[in-house]
Amino acid sequence: MGDFFLQEGNQNKCPRGASLRFAHPAPSKARPRILPVFLPLAGCPGRCLFCAQHAQTGVKTTSLEQSHDFLERCLEAARPDAPLEVGFYGGTFTALPRAWRDRFMATASRHRERGVVSGVRCSTRPDRAQAGLLRELAAQGLDRVELGVQTFCERVLRLAERGHGADASLEACLAVREAGLGLSLHLLPGLPGHTPEDFARDVEQAAALAPEAVRLHPCLVLAGTGLEQLWRSGGYEPWSLERTIKALAPAVLRLWRAGVAVTRIGLAHEPDLEAAVLAGPTHPALGMRVRALALHLFVAELLGDRRAAGLRAPAAVSGGFWGHARELAAPYAALGLERDRVRFEDRDDFQLDVRDD
Ligand code: SF4
Repeated sequence: MGDFFLQEGNQNKCPRGASLRFAHPAPSKARPRILPVFLPLAGCPGRCLFCAQHAQTGVKTTSLEQSHDFLERCLEAARPDAPLEVGFYGGTFTALPRAWRDRFMATASRHRERGVVSGVRCSTRPDRAQAGLLRELAAQGLDRVELGVQTFCERVLRLAERGHGADASLEACLAVREAGLGLSLHLLPGLPGHTPEDFARDVEQAAALAPEAVRLHPCLVLAGTGLEQLWRSGGYEPWSLERTIKALAPAVLRLWRAGVAVTRIGLAHEPDLEAAVLAGPTHPALGMRVRALALHLFVAELLGDRRAAGLRAPAAVSGGFWGHARELAAPYAALGLERDRVRFEDRDDFQLDVRDD
């Protein structure tokens, strides 16, 4: 029996005894070197229930002047042979006072002319992303918007006192596209009242909007937030780590299949963040664990009711293939892939040998 090349829709047609060749399901997209410029809570109309930007970003900066000095210093030192994409994060960039917005954009543009800036992106809230404003920013050199959608579930948005509904998020996505900008979405599974089923619907909606990238930030109880008070009063229980990984892995696979890159899972592990986490699903290898389980689900779906005789995999995936502390050894063995049946080789694709019995 010869090779069988996996194409969209033919997953279940691989005959027994064949070798199935396939690429890693994660879309391969260029990853720019991002210079994050944090503007904690700048432009935000209020403080969202779950948000502790100073702890999340590890940035003590309190003034826009300081953030601008940081940007200027970094770009002065940047070199054209290693250009940076400027990312304005940690607040609501589109709602900054106009003079500040213009100043940040003008600085990025000036250094772009020197060849050291490859692009500019910003994060913002859906209800501060009107089409006219985005067109203006696009004309000033903005390339991409990262929208903090968090969830499309109306009930959860209400409970989180987010201040807008799902319509605002859908309109903002359209506005980003109409302005000719790239689109990334941030989702926050596990907010009060948010179930894994709600999250699965969020992921379907996100995939339908076809962003280039999604970030998944499971909800944590951070010190000093409204969520801390709710949690201390017994009104909120965060998702467990196990529930989070089980919900995120199929979500990641769904997004990969839709051609959407998943560029972050969990918050970056800043020392300030670790000190601020009171409860919730954290793990230093959360992203690796979720991606490893997503790949396992992919292989299991390819096999269906068949068993594998062996797998040849790219050496590049060997580090995370078995999951944290080999937690996926037993699930892979259940597919027929005991340790000695998986070989990591100098190759780009996978070859899955299907048993003929
Ligand atoms: S979640 Fe976003 S909009 Fe809300 S306070 Fe934090 S940075 Fe501002």
